[in-house]
Amino acid sequence: LENQMLTYEKFSAIGKLAAGIAHEIRNPLTSIMGFIKLLRGRSLSQENHIRYLEIVYAELIDLSKLVSDFVLMAKPSYPEKREHSLQDIVIDTVQFMTSQANFNNVIITTDLCEPDLSLYIDSIQIKQVLINLIQNAFEAMPRGGQVDIRLSIHKELNMAMITIRDYGVGISEEQMNHVFNPFFTTKENGLGLGLSICYRIIENHGGSIQIKTPVGRGTQFTISLPISK
Ligand code: ADP
Ligand code: MG
Repeated sequence: LENQMLTYEKFSAIGKLAAGIAHEIRNPLTSIMGFIKLLRGRSLSQENHIRYLEIVYAELIDLSKLVSDFVLMAKPSYPEKREHSLQDIVIDTVQFMTSQANFNNVIITTDLCEPDLSLYIDSIQIKQVLINLIQNAFEAMPRGGQVDIRLSIHKELNMAMITIRDYGVGISEEQMNHVFNPFFTTKENGLGLGLSICYRIIENHGGSIQIKTPVGRGTQFTISLPISK
């Protein structure tokens, strides 16, 4: 009976995922089909022709991003772990996000502790986690603001801690229970896959993610990862 229960639970989870992905794919597909139909019409001005092609192209880019996010979520590649300095990874990521931060009127501050934290991790996956969290922080502050990234060491647990704090809209107690679920989103154009991917990656690294609502306002994510030496 227990086995049956497990199978049933698995199927319903897959069913939910399938429903979610179908929903996400249907809208862009409908829009692409509509514009292709228009593009086939004869009396189309050159200007509209180009405009519609661009819309179709943008929808296809969104779809392709959706598919890669979904694959990552459904079948996360096994981490290829190597020795890395966590400081280097944070510096690289912040640099990568700088132009987007400027565009969003956000200042990123960093507080990197000494000495270098040497971790046995998949650097691409950990960067992806940081990018997702920083991206969410930007989106929580539509008029701009500040994101603080801080590294520290938890000596007793021998863990490296990364905190990412924003001063945005915050997460309500009710939402808190759902934010790691695939397809949970409160955003008009959100996919709701970012945090579920982060969760999986950190779990595969033997770490954990916690969310706190700091005094004042905003949100603080804390990632802990085992230190290798
Ligand atoms: P998405 O960003 O596509 O909505 P995520 O999985 O990244 O999907 O996030 C899920 C939800 O968690 C968001 O829609 C939002 O409600 C909430 N959330 C995540 N990060 C933050 C944050 N920094 N501030 C406020 N809410 C957040
Ligand atoms: Mg997100």
